[in-house]
Amino acid sequence: MEKEIEQLPQKAREKHAENKKFFAKLKKRPPKNLDYVMQELHQDEFERTDCLQCANCCKTTGPLFTNTDIERIAKFFRLKPSQFIAQYLRLDEENDYILQEVPCAFLGADNYCSIYDVRPKACREFPHTDRKKFQQISNLTLKNVAICPAAFHIVEEMKRRLKL
Ligand code: SF4
Ligand code: SF4
Repeated sequence: MEKEIEQLPQKAREKHAENKKFFAKLKKRPPKNLDYVMQELHQDEFERTDCLQCANCCKTTGPLFTNTDIERIAKFFRLKPSQFIAQYLRLDEENDYILQEVPCAFLGADNYCSIYDVRPKACREFPHTDRKKFQQISNLTLKNVAICPAAFHIVEEMKRRLKL
């Protein structure tokens, strides 16, 4: 897995033009069964993928924290939301709360998340490959294939399966 993660940005760069073209077509004419196909591809891929061998999302990007996330996680640490923000978060250019630094402070050396049960919604949903109307997040997916080996494989399989 380590070698694959190392090679992923280069592989994603090589596929970028092809993926961009594919997603442009997908957006224009999404197949009727797209939600169903994505559920299936996502499920199959994550049956093969062990995120504990990877954790590249937690090491390199980190999530956005919504107000609900902040309240829930602050409560878990018995902190006030403002104290939690001061300790762990900062605002990005779009005024969203993100981690002060990556790798995420909550990621253990064994790749376990120390706040797993209360982790941000964005962590629970990453890489978003099972979400409905997948064609609407193509720009995000174009970036995620360089971070997440599972997302990379899912997009490759989509291109094989969906003849647009
Ligand atoms: S979601 Fe993707 S990047 Fe994150 S740990 Fe799993 S395979 Fe790796
Ligand atoms: S909160 Fe947990 S799941 Fe989310 S980035 Fe940090 S370690 Fe990963």
